[in-house]
Amino acid sequence: MSSHTLLALSYLAAAFLFIVGLKRMSSPLTAVSGVRWAGVGMLLATAVTLAFMGGVPQVNLLLVIIAILIGSVLAWVSGKRVAMTDMPQMIALYNGMGGGAAAAIAALQLASGSESNVTHAAIAAVGGFIGSVSFSGSLIAFAKLQGLIKKTLRFGGQKLVNLAILLLTVSCGVAVVSGIHADMMTVTLFFAFALLLGIAMTLPIGGADMPVVISLYNALTGLAVAFEGFVLDNAAMIIAGTVVGAAGTLLTQLMAKAMNRSLANVLFSNFGDSSGAAASSVTGTQKAIEASDAGVMLAFSQKVIVVPGYGMAVAQAQHKVWELCQLLLDNGVKVRFAIHPVAGRMPGHMNVLLAEAGVPYDLISDLDEINAEFETADVALIIGANDVVNPDARSNKSSPIYGMPILSADKAKNVIVIKRGQGQGFSGIDNALFVLDQTRMLYGDAQSAVGQLIQAVKAAG
Ligand code: NDP
Repeated sequence: MSSHTLLALSYLAAAFLFIVGLKRMSSPLTAVSGVRWAGVGMLLATAVTLAFMGGVPQVNLLLVIIAILIGSVLAWVSGKRVAMTDMPQMIALYNGMGGGAAAAIAALQLASGSESNVTHAAIAAVGGFIGSVSFSGSLIAFAKLQGLIKKTLRFGGQKLVNLAILLLTVSCGVAVVSGIHADMMTVTLFFAFALLLGIAMTLPIGGADMPVVISLYNALTGLAVAFEGFVLDNAAMIIAGTVVGAAGTLLTQLMAKAMNRSLANVLFSNFGDSSGAAASSVTGTQKAIEASDAGVMLAFSQKVIVVPGYGMAVAQAQHKVWELCQLLLDNGVKVRFAIHPVAGRMPGHMNVLLAEAGVPYDLISDLDEINAEFETADVALIIGANDVVNPDARSNKSSPIYGMPILSADKAKNVIVIKRGQGQGFSGIDNALFVLDQTRMLYGDAQSAVGQLIQAVKAAG
């Protein structure tokens, strides 16, 4: 068998592993093994690429291996250490690296002048452009979510400035590809403008929209890698890039839909910055409840629907929550978990945490399945969730989240909300649910509050 055939077959096997991995990632039950399948695919693709890299100086090979070792150690350590709530910025950072790597390939290809084929040069330039935007944009997204950039930069005429940067980038790209100015200076300007565009596009976007933006950049990185795969004639890059591009696009759409926003609205409407939050239209006062009373209410209920949110993730309260629910189940209470598609800070955030705590999947329902059931629930127990249960999204046309599908917790006979105080959710607006007649607030950190509920339910039983 020729080395070319062996390489092609290995890439085919890697592609198969990527796709099986992705398929398995679609359920929390098989997700961990899915990551492993895809990882083995990536290992295979990298190993065969290095093994069949003919005519490459030894020193280059050594540099590649050193880079892989440094990258692997950094990724291993940071992956082990990262908290679940910091996962979006971690993804932004890694994703940015992918875009940067694709842009670096394009930069080398264009700067070396080795690309005599105009179509290839054009593909390299498009991939380089998308990769650069994704790289610098992802770094800004990371800095915002990590709290390194606290201000959202906005000024009049900002969109015109961004358009001007885009036009400058395209002009340089056309000059390079057509050969009119295929010199080092124009290539450098092309990449500098593309990087600037990623920064300028991302700076005005508010924190609440960052996860959607990260998902979009993830899709763009995939696309950039696929383009560079064409340039290098590397099937593994084309397949992996296309798979990432398609998955990222679907995820972006899913998140935008769950927030009832169009992608254009996310990118250009300057929403999602709590510093510019609308004036509150919520009137009325929140009514507190003691854990002992809340525990009695839960213990004597027939049906309780638990709504977890970002606060549960911050407090790492999922194990205690499951302990409480097991106690209620033992007491004959019917317990269900209601998961909103954008509860927390990333898709599937709550599912992952509940799976980690051992909650059986048949107790977990998504928004469409469970919403009609709130009317029959004695208690909706809200644990660190806010925006995803705000009834203003349904009824208040002036609310920034109007139109976002929400969990109908307000339809339950009683509502118990666990949160530390009067803090707002990620969208920075007040919640009409918290002042309803049937709502009681159990103030405290989710983990300790649920711990108190456990004691109270035991005492009531
Ligand atoms: P929210 O961000 O709306 O609210 C979380 C609440 O948790 C806060 O009001 C806070 O109140 C409370 N909280 C914080 N820490 C603790 C703690 N230690 N113990 C108890 N409570 C705590 O969360 P939701 O999950 O309801 O909504 C998610 C938001 O994120 C939505 O706006 C969504 O659009 C957005 N988003 C989500 C994405 C996703 O993919 N999941 C993507 C993009 C955006 P207090 O300070 O008083 O304790």
